[in-house]
Amino acid sequence: AGKALFEAQRVGGHGKMIIHGGYYASPAAVLDGLRNGEFFLRFQAVVDLATGAAIGAEALVRWQHPTRGLVPPAEFIPLCEASGSIVVLGEWVVRESVAEAARWRRLRGEDDPVSVAINASARELTSAGYGEFVLTECANVGLPAALVHIEVTETHFGSDAAAVRDNIRVLRGAGVIISMDDFGTGHSSLSRLTEIELDVIKIDQSFVAVIETERESPVAELTIKLAATLGLQVIAEGVETEAQAEWLRERGCLLAQGYLYSRPVAADEFVARFLVQPVT
Ligand code: C2E
Ligand code: CA
Ligand code: CA
Ligand code: CA
Repeated sequence: AGKALFEAQRVGGHGKMIIHGGYYASPAAVLDGLRNGEFFLRFQAVVDLATGAAIGAEALVRWQHPTRGLVPPAEFIPLCEASGSIVVLGEWVVRESVAEAARWRRLRGEDDPVSVAINASARELTSAGYGEFVLTECANVGLPAALVHIEVTETHFGSDAAAVRDNIRVLRGAGVIISMDDFGTGHSSLSRLTEIELDVIKIDQSFVAVIETERESPVAELTIKLAATLGLQVIAEGVETEAQAEWLRERGCLLAQGYLYSRPVAADEFVARFLVQPVT
């Protein structure tokens, strides 16, 4: 309640943000938060629509702020992007995520791979050396790069597309899977999609949500076809009902995430529910 402590303002044509006034997501504040253990990860299973078994999980960051309580990432991530603190936070997310995935691999063995999907911000993707950083962290924990998905969005290609492409080339060259997140919600053209080196398209949850109310989702349907044409995998997000899962299965979508299968949960719960107990 009351007046916000911060004000974010868009300036210029590059979507750069300037933050005014006292704000809580400054680099110093995020560093403090990391030292104090205020950040933690939740993992949401990515499941095989045919069996319900997990093929991997997406890491989603949370901030238990001492005075603000549990702040949703949709609120603090943009502020971290604006202040630059996303870089140190993003490094922490990568380190924690690959360490967790390395544990899953030890648990399951080499023949039952479980991947981890990490959301990359524009700031990270445009930093020189981001690709190498991710690969180094994988090597440090003995995780094959092919078990890491890096999720990018169309908007990431607006500011410094060349730098983004360089990082993607480094990552993909080592076997990292590149996913286009929130597909269809950005402003990019279809031609751009073919210019980006990609492995996976994620159908945004807004296009899955309408399946329930209208029984049709032209964008979801087209995305599944487009992915097939381009030889890409497709993951539907935000699957909440069996009717939506059925609709997706009928149209050839093989993978999904959503509350129907699991909310984002602590790593131990993901392990207990999807990796230790076989899904029957
Ligand atoms: P996203 O990458 O599109 O993540 C999916 C969001 O949908 C998550 O929200 C997830 O909890 C939510 N979700 C999953 N299944 C369902 C469902 O069945 N129904 C509904 N209604 N929602 C579902 P969350 O965790 O609040 O994250 C919001 C956004 O914050 C993410 O959207 C992502 O853009 C960003 N984010 C989260 N973690 C990170 C991170 O570590 N780094 C960066 N750069 N961004 C992150
Ligand atoms: Ca994502
Ligand atoms: Ca998404
Ligand atoms: Ca999103």
